[in-house]
Amino acid sequence: MSKPTPVFGLIDCNSFYASCERVFRPDLAKVPIVVLSNNDGCVIARSYDAKPFVKMGEPYFQIKEKLRHHGIVAFSSNYALYGDMSERVMTLIESMVPAVEVYSIDEAFADLTGIEGLDALGRQIRSRVLRCTGIPVGVGIAPTKTLAKLANHTAKRLQAQTGGVVNICDQVKRDWVLRNTDVAEVWG
Ligand SMILES: [Mg+2]
Repeated sequence: MSKPTPVFGLIDCNSFYASCERVFRPDLAKVPIVVLSNNDGCVIARSYDAKPFVKMGEPYFQIKEKLRHHGIVAFSSNYALYGDMSERVMTLIESMVPAVEVYSIDEAFADLTGIEGLDALGRQIRSRVLRCTGIPVGVGIAPTKTLAKLANHTAKRLQAQTGGVVNICDQVKRDWVLRNTDVAEVWG
């Protein structure tokens, strides 16, 4: 029997630090927020609804007025909280797939080789992580890690159309995604 085609899943938390802060401030669910680096130096995370107004790395002292104008709430960073939330997310993912490689505080690659029903599994991971931790994630599924990253990027970019899960193991879907993506932006 030939070896099964490899399949990788990339699970990546959306706006991770901002999402962590929001879990404990449900009153800010619809309010744009940013998270600041140590000593409130500059912006290191933005909720999706803050992104149109604030760039990554903008110095806090320069944008206070802009934040106020757009009703954006700024948080000092709380790495103990993010580490704890990361552990909860990763533990959940580990309980749902055979093998996980934690890639960064908010990203993990799962080896999904030989698994049936990949789309359903992707949706299950997404909904379970959201329900149990409050953190929204995107799931990208593909035959290589690089393509899984691309699929994940598409899942987030086209959140409304994809439900946050994109599987490009299929050649036709893969070609569509490759044609419709600015690849520099994926790795930026
Ligand atoms: Mg992320």
